[in-house]
Amino acid sequence: MQKGLLLVISGPSGCGKGTVLKEVMKKQNLYYSISMTTRQPREGEVDGVHYHFVSKEQFETLIAQNGVLEHAEYCGNYYGTPREAVETMRNEGKDVILEIEVVGAAQVRENCPDAVSIFIAPPSIAELKRRLYGRGTESEETIQERIAQVDRELPCAVQYDYLVINDEVESAAEEILQIIAAERIRHRNKEEKVKEVLES
Ligand code: 5GP
Repeated sequence: MQKGLLLVISGPSGCGKGTVLKEVMKKQNLYYSISMTTRQPREGEVDGVHYHFVSKEQFETLIAQNGVLEHAEYCGNYYGTPREAVETMRNEGKDVILEIEVVGAAQVRENCPDAVSIFIAPPSIAELKRRLYGRGTESEETIQERIAQVDRELPCAVQYDYLVINDEVESAAEEILQIIAAERIRHRNKEEKVKEVLES
């Protein structure tokens, strides 16, 4: 069986990656990896659905046990990808999505050379700010903190395999679906396929 793809998606807070990914997942059966974080849940966020909300001690224990595929600190909190679920799903042939920030994404590119990385950028900084304020889920201080990350995050886009500009959700989602389709073909087990053809 062909191993599932490992798709790494990053983009600044407020670029709309959550909305774009929801659209992609309506059309594609993908396993969305649930990250661990030490940040407090936002209103409406459910433990085990949006994140595994853990203490700093729990987080550090899993790191020590080599239980995370990557991890990073973002705005004073830890975020990380539990390793086991990702590997199990990929071995079952399911494509896995990691929605992670740029430091963690660099670790995945380093440790998993077959990962496919996609950076989602907003069409402009003005639009990013509008979306962050429009979300209405964070304090002014948190929003300012997140805007301050953009100058660090955006230049990292050049290190990704693909750059998708989220001007319009539908077309950004469509581009990601096209990337997935092409990458499935690129990662096809060619030897196995050739053998199948020769033996048919
Ligand atoms: P938020 O607090 O808005 O949910 O996430 C803040 C940032 O952390 C976002 O850029 C998000 O993509 C990133 N993030 C979420 N989960 C992980 C993870 O498991 N690892 C890393 N490195 N970043 C993550």
